[in-house]
Amino acid sequence: MPPSEHNFWLTTTEMPQPAPSPLPETVDVAIIGAGFTGLSAARTLAQRGATVAVLEAETIGWGASSRNGGMVLTGLKLGVNKLISLYGRERTQRMYAASLASIDCVEQIVREENISCDFSRSGHLEVACKQKHFDDYARQVEVIAREFNHRLRIVPRGELQSEIGSSIYYGGMVDEISAGLNPARYVAGLSKAAANAGAQIFEGTKVQKIERESRQSSPGWRVITSGGALWARNLFVGTSGYTGAATPALRKKIIPIGSYIITTEVLPEALARQLSPRNRMIYDSKNYLYYYRLTPDNRLLFGGRAAFFPEAADSIRRSAEILRRGMIDVYPQLREVKVEYVWGGTLDFAFDIMPHAGQMDGIYYAVGYAGHGVAMATWQGQKMAELIAGEKPGNPFVGIPFPGAPLGLYNGKPWFLPFAGAWYKFLDWVS
Ligand SMILES: Cc1cc2nc3c(=O)[nH]c(=O)nc-3n(C[C@H](O)[C@H](O)[C@H](O)COP(=O)(O)OP(=O)(O)OC[C@H]3O[C@@H](n4cnc5c(N)ncnc54)[C@H](O)[C@@H]3O)c2cc1C
Repeated sequence: MPPSEHNFWLTTTEMPQPAPSPLPETVDVAIIGAGFTGLSAARTLAQRGATVAVLEAETIGWGASSRNGGMVLTGLKLGVNKLISLYGRERTQRMYAASLASIDCVEQIVREENISCDFSRSGHLEVACKQKHFDDYARQVEVIAREFNHRLRIVPRGELQSEIGSSIYYGGMVDEISAGLNPARYVAGLSKAAANAGAQIFEGTKVQKIERESRQSSPGWRVITSGGALWARNLFVGTSGYTGAATPALRKKIIPIGSYIITTEVLPEALARQLSPRNRMIYDSKNYLYYYRLTPDNRLLFGGRAAFFPEAADSIRRSAEILRRGMIDVYPQLREVKVEYVWGGTLDFAFDIMPHAGQMDGIYYAVGYAGHGVAMATWQGQKMAELIAGEKPGNPFVGIPFPGAPLGLYNGKPWFLPFAGAWYKFLDWVS
């Protein structure tokens, strides 16, 4: 039987459904997008007494926030040496500290709001697909210990069986600080926390147009949505890979890239422990990478960029078979195991593969998580909310250059993705 084209995580929880109500006439802050970024910001702002409307085109957590692998990861997508060369030692240290703080931020919210989402500090394991990738781990461990006082552990090939039941890798690198959670339960809990703090969440409310408009000599925004218009003193955009025509300047800076996931049937306990003895969040060292983990009920969740384009019915169907083959390459012992679910979602990449936050044409935003958004989106939402509330949070991602496409050759429609996909496959072959 083919797998169900459905997000497994959504079978584990009921998403909150706020009762439909008319939009308020005015708010202190309108937030576009009810994912980790928007809801975390809404919670923080409402806790500070602001009136907040979260405007969501679909439903709570509909975007990447309910569809991801639930890996709460340390670090940024770019390597530390590259970061230091781009931003200098001091800012890179603050960025790295922020990426560690972002995991604490998720843990603290889960604890404070009593969110039942299987949060667990199980650590992550990166596995080397080539000997030279493994050799590079030693260099990274040394730089990260020296520059950021953060300890990672190298696992040589001969000891890898204690971490993973696969023999195809050249070694690994463990970071014990990373965590895992159930993202659908987490985003559901975050939305309840935002609502309990006083934020209003409007589903099925697509922002169509934004216009500058002052009221009683206060600058602000008229926000026109599919459910009517409202006026907001401040506007914050957390639309990630789903950024669209309502914010055209931001859309041009974001490349939406598809990522796909399969999950197997529930595995016997002994087999699950053999695949991942320490229940790590695992990903490999390729550009076109695989990421995988056990779910809390012992399925193997296996994801990757099986197609580069954002999700659509045919790319989801094709991805199921591509990912199943990838999973069996890693774990031949799963050859006879049934794949029960397949789904896809859209990641947001900036052209420099960095997270970005700040103000563009007066509108606040936080985007660019490049597949590392569970912790970082939560943290950025909180920090940007503090900034909007007039506080001075340290946020090393505000103010860094936010490049657009080379020669401006991009209008928000990623025509170059098939070439980018082929390019990454080529890089994996040669590097
Ligand atoms: C398959 C997959 C696996 C991933 N795995 C991981 C992982 O294991 N670990 C990790 O750290 N990260 C992972 N990520 C990335 C992570 O999920 C995202 O970075 C994060 O969820 C982004 O949250 P967000 O709130 O910014 O955006 P989203 O959750 O994408 O929410 C954006 C929302 O904006 C809404 N929207 C867009 N335009 C409008 C509009 N005009 N009006 C109203 N609403 C609008 C959309 O409907 C959407 O609900 C993964 C992503 C995918 C797709």
